[in-house]
Amino acid sequence: MSTLPAGVMREAIIDVEAITDNVRQLRRLTGVEVIAVVKADGYGHGAARSAAAALAGGATRIGVADIAEALALRRAGIDAPILAWLHAPGASFGEAVERGIELGVSNLDQLNAAAAAGSGDRPAVLHLKLETGLGRNGASPADYAALFAEAARWERLGRVRVIGIFSHLSNASAQDDLAALARFEDAVAAASAAGLTPRLRHIAATHAAIALPQTRLNCVRIGIGIYGLSPFDDRSSADLGLRPAMTLRAAVAAVRRVGAGQGVSYGYDYRTNGDTTLALVPLGYADGVPRQASGAGPVRIAGGRHSVAGRIAMDQFVVDVGDAEVHVGDEVVLFGDPTLGVPSATDWADAAGTINYEIVTRIGARVPRRDIER
Ligand SMILES: *Cc1c(COP(=O)(O)O)cnc(C)c1O
Repeated sequence: MSTLPAGVMREAIIDVEAITDNVRQLRRLTGVEVIAVVKADGYGHGAARSAAAALAGGATRIGVADIAEALALRRAGIDAPILAWLHAPGASFGEAVERGIELGVSNLDQLNAAAAAGSGDRPAVLHLKLETGLGRNGASPADYAALFAEAARWERLGRVRVIGIFSHLSNASAQDDLAALARFEDAVAAASAAGLTPRLRHIAATHAAIALPQTRLNCVRIGIGIYGLSPFDDRSSADLGLRPAMTLRAAVAAVRRVGAGQGVSYGYDYRTNGDTTLALVPLGYADGVPRQASGAGPVRIAGGRHSVAGRIAMDQFVVDVGDAEVHVGDEVVLFGDPTLGVPSATDWADAAGTINYEIVTRIGARVPRRDIER
């Protein structure tokens, strides 16, 4: 990977086999069904390729936030079950039900809209979403009973089929997550008493699925882990048996030999100390390289590790490579699989004061995604 294809200035290489292997690994580790979460264009990796790769690794279902994301996956030929859980106020679900998209339902309005879209021939397939402490989406405990009773009534009429019940955890602490789990278990019992028989019970995303085995139930929703990134501060991808699937790289666009005192980039936040070489990297915050990592973000160029000098601009940043032999066209890797000697997305997250999720997800539309060639 030391030269880019002719004419390519920047690209994100996606290792779909890594996604497949990561799903296999997480299936082995958890021992339960995996819903592979590919919202937000597969955390920047490409939703359709990520979904296909995850299904090849044994995921049984795909999860997205929005119905529009689910429909795009259908159009891309993904015919596995797809669950979408975040809906516009007043959304109607006709097209989703027609295309066999499963709906996460958080309240009576959504339940009734789903029932209106369902029919005896094609009931709306639902996962009831419960709030158990995160303070986001889902029915509140005070509303569980009404939601379950109404869902059971629609189910008896053949308009909906409740196949799942789910919630989402805070990862605030094991104690908080286990308290949410207890509330969830009570709610599952109440749903059952109301006559519902949801086969799938899911509450854990990557963090809890790995760290808190009790939360695995019979299904987990895995996002960041399938892309090979760790949600933990103190455990790397390799520690978890995962392989990062995205490598972000560019070709050095210009090289300049300068003397001491050369100001670099807007505001001259960086000045050279002595004779040195500056390499221009054609990636900027428009491409999702976080400006907050100015002066800090790590790269590998010509076999050496360096960091951003001065401010990251919209389209480019500069690296002071000292006396290293660097040429126009040389590969610059921002992040990839750190076991191969390149920085990680987590290194960039640390440099920018954010999380690795945001680093990969915000890689911009101007960066072509390309499947790795083997
Ligand atoms: C994004 C999301 C997930 C996946 O979370 P990860 O931490 O990436 O595994 C799971 N469930 C819900 C409801 C989500 O919004």
